[in-house]
Amino acid sequence: MKLIILGAPGSGKGTSATVLREEFSLAHISTGDIFRANIKGNTPLGIEAKSYIDKGQLVPDSLTISMVEDRLNQDDCAKGYILDGFPRTIAQAEALDEMLSKKNTGIDAVLSIVVDDEEIKARVAGRRVCEKCGASYNVNFKPTKVENVCDLCGGKVYQRDDDKPETVEARLKTYYKNTQPLIDFYDKKGLIVEGDNNKDSQICIDQIKEGLKAKGLI
Ligand code: AMP
Repeated sequence: MKLIILGAPGSGKGTSATVLREEFSLAHISTGDIFRANIKGNTPLGIEAKSYIDKGQLVPDSLTISMVEDRLNQDDCAKGYILDGFPRTIAQAEALDEMLSKKNTGIDAVLSIVVDDEEIKARVAGRRVCEKCGASYNVNFKPTKVENVCDLCGGKVYQRDDDKPETVEARLKTYYKNTQPLIDFYDKKGLIVEGDNNKDSQICIDQIKEGLKAKGLI
């Protein structure tokens, strides 16, 4: 199964992707995580990407598309995958279509995670992430047992620079301008499966699974 997960920053797409990845043994391709790993490793890609990410802007399509193409060619993607954070522009979506059609394949469904704006701002402001294993917490809704220490691996839990309030506004604007049009793009192809993540992540996952069932994918 080849899936895309779409949603505003802080909508919980990463968390939903993690649940689905485990349940359906999919490779989880998060472009944000790949950029952050490159920033941590101080690679040329990381240095360039950081200048955009810190401003809440998108990393240019040219860099992002080739990075994803390389990733999709790795062996673990053969069993199916979930793309989390890609595509984020119509140009990226068109490039993905082209990449996949060269392999005579295509995306099976696009999961659209729906959360109201105010809720998103509250969630992103409180979000904290483990620098070691990537587990996600929230100081208001899902705190760590010991302050700033990951429950799962004992790693240090921190606030992403781009989760600071001044950057969140810019990221939301970028989302509405560049990424939201993708919902219409994929709706026209009959690929959208919606999950409402305003209240409970389990409700969202259940709705997604119902949608995948209705499409005969699970
Ligand atoms: P995320 O972890 O998905 O919220 O991504 C963090 C940041 O990485 C975004 O705000 C963008 O600056 C950058 N980024 C991630 N994915 C993409 C993409 N597909 N295209 C361009 N920039 C991206």
